[in-house]
Amino acid sequence: MQNTIISVKNLKKNYGVFEAVKGISFDVFEGEIFGLLGPNGAGKSTTLEIIETLRQKTSGEVMVNGLNLDKEPDSIKKIIGVQLQTSGFYPGLNLLELIALFSGLYNQPVAPMELLKLVNLEDKAKSKYKEMSGGQKQRFSIATTLINKPKIVFLDEPTTGLDPQARRNLWELIKSIRKEGTTVIITTHYMDEAEQLCDRIAIMDEGKIIALASPDKMIDDLVASGFEKPKPVKSANLEDVFINLTGKEMRDE
Ligand code: ADP
Ligand code: MG
Repeated sequence: MQNTIISVKNLKKNYGVFEAVKGISFDVFEGEIFGLLGPNGAGKSTTLEIIETLRQKTSGEVMVNGLNLDKEPDSIKKIIGVQLQTSGFYPGLNLLELIALFSGLYNQPVAPMELLKLVNLEDKAKSKYKEMSGGQKQRFSIATTLINKPKIVFLDEPTTGLDPQARRNLWELIKSIRKEGTTVIITTHYMDEAEQLCDRIAIMDEGKIIALASPDKMIDDLVASGFEKPKPVKSANLEDVFINLTGKEMRDE
């Protein structure tokens, strides 16, 4: 039996007359990687930002680790880690200086080198934020979500725009965060990523959840419904070719 750590019931969000989120309900279990998938404009970021206490809902009920969003938003803030947009960092500060800044903001002591080691950036401690590659910036921004030792981490499209090596490297990082017992909620447009990482996924479209299950179950259900791929599937794809030719090592170290 799994413990529910986030419970969302009949959540609605209107922007003026536009209904961006149309009464969705779902639970996230403690310790899982939960994926929120869906086309642009489906309402994924809106949903996450409401749970993160960063956006007002129109109606519905949200509980996070037993805390009611309406009554105890400040207590919720203390137990979650939210990945900032990369523009949220001072570009001219180095990584140690940025960590010290966050540590002060959260009023939470941190061991900066240990944190950097976790995301494989020890060598970059004295580098300025603006001097890092896309993958390194994403790893650093994930590291900053861990400063307050959160129970739940929210990652909104953390791998968008990364090369295949950096993407795989982030998968390992996200798995290692989950291994520590932290619950992870992630959005992504990459289906291979969702299949690799997520224990369960919810697929959103036009403000509604249209499916919720494990990736395996969703695929099995589709196959059971008589679905067949139009072409015979090759035993490799172009991404396999790319990785096979260029290797798995990170290039931006
Ligand atoms: P997703 O993250 O799935 O791409 P969003 O939650 O960002 O979707 O947006 C859902 C819908 O709500 C989109 O149609 C978007 O244009 C609209 N929307 C998002 N934020 C606002 C806002 N602040 N004001 C008005 N409409 C918004
Ligand atoms: Mg979004």
